Amino acid sequence: MALLERLRDLLGPSGFVADGEDRAPFERDWTGVYRGEALAVAMPSAVDELRAVVRLAAEAGIAIVPQGGNTGMCAGAVPRERSLLLSTKRLDAIRSVDPRDWSVTAEAGVVLADLQAAAQSVDRFFPLRLGSEGSATIGGLVSTNAGGTRAVRYGVMRDLVLGLEVVLPDGRLWNGLSRLRKDVTGYDLRHLFIGAEGTLGIVTAATLRLYPAEPAIASAFCGVPSVASAMEFLDIARQKSCDAIVTFEIMSKPCIDLAAAHVDGVRRPLAGEHRWHVLVEIAAHDGAARLESCLVGAMERGVVADAVIAQSLADAAGFWRIREGVVEAQPRLGLSIKHDVSVPLDAVAAFCERAEAEMRRRLPASIPLFLGHCGDGNIHANLAQARTPADIFTASTARLTAAIHDIAEALGGSISAEHGIGFKKRDEFLARTDPVEFDLMSRIKRALDPADKMNPGVLMPPMQQREAAE
Ligand SMILES: Cc1cc2nc3c(=O)[nH]c(=O)nc-3n(C[C@H](O)[C@H](O)[C@H](O)COP(=O)(O)OP(=O)(O)OC[C@H]3O[C@@H](n4cnc5c(N)ncnc54)[C@H](O)[C@@H]3O)c2cc1C
Repeated sequence: MALLERLRDLLGPSGFVADGEDRAPFERDWTGVYRGEALAVAMPSAVDELRAVVRLAAEAGIAIVPQGGNTGMCAGAVPRERSLLLSTKRLDAIRSVDPRDWSVTAEAGVVLADLQAAAQSVDRFFPLRLGSEGSATIGGLVSTNAGGTRAVRYGVMRDLVLGLEVVLPDGRLWNGLSRLRKDVTGYDLRHLFIGAEGTLGIVTAATLRLYPAEPAIASAFCGVPSVASAMEFLDIARQKSCDAIVTFEIMSKPCIDLAAAHVDGVRRPLAGEHRWHVLVEIAAHDGAARLESCLVGAMERGVVADAVIAQSLADAAGFWRIREGVVEAQPRLGLSIKHDVSVPLDAVAAFCERAEAEMRRRLPASIPLFLGHCGDGNIHANLAQARTPADIFTASTARLTAAIHDIAEALGGSISAEHGIGFKKRDEFLARTDPVEFDLMSRIKRALDPADKMNPGVLMPPMQQREAAE
């Protein structure tokens, strides 16, 4: 095919992969559940090269699927219908780190951990933190509007982006790499591309906010009787710490049991048994005193039953080992049904109670594993297969997910707090979205990508399907 030859000429052997075996790692998501077939993989190493790839693909009428670290949870970076997979792996320069401006400008393929290290090297802090930070890229994090474990203090990716550079579906470059904190000249276009999951263009670089290096972190692992107690603890902790909480993660008891049974090095921090646990962290020079005051206040009110404060970095790392170990160990219980729900803070307890009851009613031999960033109202309400036969578990997935999402929706929540829609949740998203809102999104998509060649089928149905429905 002429396109492939032209791409090979443009990108050279290190930037172009056509062979089936070499393409394979790009063609499946990290869970191995979603797979596709790409015409080829293009890996441009400069923005001009990337623009040329987009122009060539547009001329040939070939769709593009952008891919960063391929750690996404919703199959948004898996190629479909022989599209061209565009990997940003080689677009990995940190263009500038500006401590006096408290900003950093990095290309799309920069891995989050590398960006964090670059900030640290000038005594600054980039606050996005998540389990995939060793692989997830700036372009992917912008395009999914990622959240993570520090969003309760610093917000999500959208809150951290000052400016963007984007290659549009026709190959033009929008240079929106502003470093301004305040600018009210016209529509704020960066927000269109944040969370767009590669459907409106390819993010090639971002300018991001930096923060002061965090002072000592005080961490505690707490046993709480209920989710309602955890949320009351959050209120107390926010007030008493003067909003210095940087992490507020919840885990149900089966999560702790699972990590303790299957993850090397996990020890239970608390002696007794508790139905729920909270990992709370405060960043402040007097963090230990503030944390103690929060815990005393919460224990007096009876919302924290027991707590242990980390006495060393190793203790704190042990708390995180449990939190991260839950995700790692979940496959030990067989198949999983995962949900990434958010609800208003005052509805978190009701959501957990109703969602857990629904899971127990439908699949009593399976194990609900609830964990998440409950300081942001974001709960990963997961169900592990355990003793339910695989065919029954699999056959129940769609209906259970619909029921869990119904509960979230009834409480004013969202079916995707931080993982995006991708291909996986697309039809449900369409079914649940207000028609006016969907119409606006469709018009934006059509205006920017009239030929529907930028990640078609992700976030919204392909154009023909949308037009047929109109
Ligand atoms: C162990 C683990 C823990 C995780 N924890 C969290 C968490 O706490 N919070 C959270 O929010 N997520 C979490 N994730 C999910 C995932 O890491 C994020 O969604 C991340 O933002 C994806 O980045 P990526 O570079 O891997 O993107 P990819 O998976 O490659 O792509 C994701 C989407 O973005 C698009 N895209 C990628 N790059 C670009 C670009 N340059 N321009 C336009 N579109 C692009 C893709 O087409 C796709 O639609 C976790 C994942 C794992 C495996």
